[in-house]
Amino acid sequence: MRCPTCGGENIDGTTECVSCGQPCPVSQCPPPTVQIKLSGAAVASAVLAALA
Ligand SMILES: [Zn+2]
Repeated sequence: MRCPTCGGENIDGTTECVSCGQPCPVSQCPPPTVQIKLSGAAVASAVLAALA
């Protein structure tokens, strides 16, 4: 299956992306666009926090 957050390829049935670490319940994945926006903001915040 393809991760809706980063688009990385994961083993079918996985609950956590091996590329970005985001939890990805197969039956509860939200629309890719929304997830990408949220992920981008979260990653940006995490990077800024790490650099500060
Ligand atoms: Zn991912």
